Amino acid sequence: GARIGILGGGQLGRMLSVAAARLGFVTHIYEPGANPPAGQVADRVTTAAYDDAAALKAFAESVDVITYEFENIPTEALDLLESHCPIHPGREALRISQDRLTEKTFLAGLGLKTAPFADITDLDSLKAAIDKIGTPAILKTRRFGYDGKGQARLRGPEDAEAALADMAGAPAILEGYVNFSHEVSVIAARGIDGQVACFDPGENVHRDGILHTTTVPARLAPAQRTDAVLLAANILNALDYVGVMGVELFVTPQGLIVNEVAPRVHNSGHWTQNGCAVDQFEQHIRAVAGWPLGDGQRHSNVVMENLIGDDMDRVPELARERDVALHLYGKAEVKSGRKMAHFNRISR
Ligand code: ATP
Ligand code: MG
Ligand code: MG
Repeated sequence: GARIGILGGGQLGRMLSVAAARLGFVTHIYEPGANPPAGQVADRVTTAAYDDAAALKAFAESVDVITYEFENIPTEALDLLESHCPIHPGREALRISQDRLTEKTFLAGLGLKTAPFADITDLDSLKAAIDKIGTPAILKTRRFGYDGKGQARLRGPEDAEAALADMAGAPAILEGYVNFSHEVSVIAARGIDGQVACFDPGENVHRDGILHTTTVPARLAPAQRTDAVLLAANILNALDYVGVMGVELFVTPQGLIVNEVAPRVHNSGHWTQNGCAVDQFEQHIRAVAGWPLGDGQRHSNVVMENLIGDDMDRVPELARERDVALHLYGKAEVKSGRKMAHFNRISR
């Protein structure tokens, strides 16, 4: 069997490792932090930093293909890894999704609708952007934001200074506030041969900036569902993408607006573990290993719910419930705001 290297040892790396093992692959995790969740299920773990050239080289030489569970891998590390071993999804997808300005420019260039946006470098450019885009608006750091971190809301122009101070000098973009009725995401996969398969769109509810639930089927008219899937396929094809991608969308009366893309398996795709014969993790492993994509047809209705921090107290009770599939990440320490587990509640 082939050997698959995974950059990042969090819960996504863990669930990728499980899927890979099920298909007979050997997995090797690369993770700077000690005792990563993925380390408990992978065949091998390298604990080393992303600037450790010797460790990166040894890792790349120990596997046949490299994939990743997060998008903020330093460019120099990618250069080194790629000189020894192919990386899927490819560099272009990473470049685009690492920076919100590059990402939105790329998406708009495909003819897709995004929130109005502007590059912010200082207070003058922010004031000019507010004049053009209006308020309410959201200021976001261009890089490294997740779970709503690195964002500041502007109710009116008077919030400009405070919002900019929240960015702590980091490059930012201003986005016009999208008045959406709800949020959905498409988990899409593309194989090495260019075949594309999309999972049924899920409807996402956030709490305190963190994904709370994903429900399938999402509330979408048939034409909207087709739109969502076609635009996701468009994005993957444009990037000559290989693997699974999460595409976050806002549903508005004017149509679907693309919020952001993630070049990896996605929290809003966890429902597929109990709603499809082949879930997003297996689909990703199949794609990066050069296999044909599997059957991602949805066979059940599912509500996925994240268990964050003290939500873990609910596990004993949930374990007794029918039609609930629990997925625990094996994290030793419970911390507030930390994703500890999720469960899928199935109905037919
Ligand atoms: P993730 O954890 O999904 O990576 P993130 O930190 O990258 O999140 P976004 O997805 O850009 O941040 O924003 C988080 C949430 O904030 C969105 O799901 C949406 O609810 C809200 N939001 C973001 N941008 C806008 C916008 N332009 N208009 C309205 N709401 C927005
Ligand atoms: Mg994001
Ligand atoms: Mg998001």
